[in-house]
Amino acid sequence: MQAEFVNDRVPTLVLVSTSAALEARWHDWLNPWWGGPLSRCDSIDKVVPTLQQKEHSILLLDVSDLKHAELTLAHLRQAFPGLPCVLLLHEQPCADSLQAMLGNPLNDYLPLDSSHTDTVRRVIRHCQLQLHSPDHRVTATTELAGYDPELWRALHREEFELFYQPRIDLRRGEICGAEALIRWRHPERGILPPDSFIPSCEASGLIVPLGYWIIQSAGQALPALQAAGLAGRIGINLSFRQFQDSFLATTIERLLDEQQMASQTLEFELTETALFNDEEHVRSAIDQLSRRGIEFSLDDFGTGYSSFSLLQKLPINTLKIDKSFVAGIPGNQDDEEIVRAIINLAHSLNKQVIAEGVETNAQLEFLIRHGCDQVQGFFFSRPVPLQQFLGLLNHRQHQHSL
Ligand code: C2E
Ligand code: CA
Ligand code: CA
Repeated sequence: MQAEFVNDRVPTLVLVSTSAALEARWHDWLNPWWGGPLSRCDSIDKVVPTLQQKEHSILLLDVSDLKHAELTLAHLRQAFPGLPCVLLLHEQPCADSLQAMLGNPLNDYLPLDSSHTDTVRRVIRHCQLQLHSPDHRVTATTELAGYDPELWRALHREEFELFYQPRIDLRRGEICGAEALIRWRHPERGILPPDSFIPSCEASGLIVPLGYWIIQSAGQALPALQAAGLAGRIGINLSFRQFQDSFLATTIERLLDEQQMASQTLEFELTETALFNDEEHVRSAIDQLSRRGIEFSLDDFGTGYSSFSLLQKLPINTLKIDKSFVAGIPGNQDDEEIVRAIINLAHSLNKQVIAEGVETNAQLEFLIRHGCDQVQGFFFSRPVPLQQFLGLLNHRQHQHSL
């Protein structure tokens, strides 16, 4: 992600710390949120040439003594007036001295031990604000990463929302999970479908932070979903572009830990494109997550190129038959054969199979007749907002108890 930002007006986050471990942590935290460059100096003396070189910098100062940090900053700001700084605090400082430091709007702080995504996002917002300040007169967010500024703002204003579409287990006739599908509640244009903004997010890389938001958002919904009786997993779409973030698996693991999400509640939906882009790297990310108990499904199956051997090698639990084939059953002989073949292939590889885009009773009957495991489609429900989906679950639970 970082290599894209060659524009020298993009600020550099300059970490001043003697701790290599801290640098690793920062990469891990910041990578999803910060598209710009990150540089490290192990002493305050060495930071001066870096600041001279990088015109727009934001200092991340590893602070052991607040008083000392204040003096250092005052000193640095003689040479670099307007230098924004985020104080990285190892322990809770005395409130008065912290207040005094925060009286200066150029300063922000981050308590390292309790850091989670919200605090990191707050700091990034601070950095964004600094970029808009007179000293950093750049059209920041647009140039920052080539992100569409409207989409970037939408992410920060929490205008995105996950809708949920049930998956139905055909043997038990019950909801056995759901797919989370993103929508943009645009303040003027209403609810916008993912096809209208996901491609742009993929092209600019914004899909990386957006993807983490999606996982977090599903994590926040999980307790309510489980309380309403949802058994099975939530399917989350992972774009091929998200695998280009080398911290993908580690960041997902951290998000799971932070939100206390059980891995057995998640499934990531991949496309064949994701698998073939960078086989080795993708495979190791998938393996890492799979070892934690996360499952994977292969989306839009039949539309791309899947090699038989890759299907066997990767821990893919489920194939999702693309809805373009389901649209042709029953009646279209080619589609009927493809659907039958995919069901047989899945079962012979010991995988589950889901048919997507089921809209009619005739399609459903065909799929039941040929042993499909699960279905998903408008015949049962469109993707709906969380509250409505909870209603659907409660209704089903109620019916079962009658
Ligand atoms: P997808 O992953 O193949 O999702 C299934 C799409 O089929 C959804 O469209 C869903 O609303 C639609 N669908 C479900 N049942 C039926 C049906 O019976 N008939 C018809 N005609 N369509 C049905 P949606 O929500 O517009 O999403 C479109 C695509 O956008 C998704 O295709 C996925 O590739 C992408 N997308 C959606 N949410 C996310 C997300 O959170 N992250 C990422 N990376 N991509 C997402
Ligand atoms: Ca999907
Ligand atoms: Ca699909």
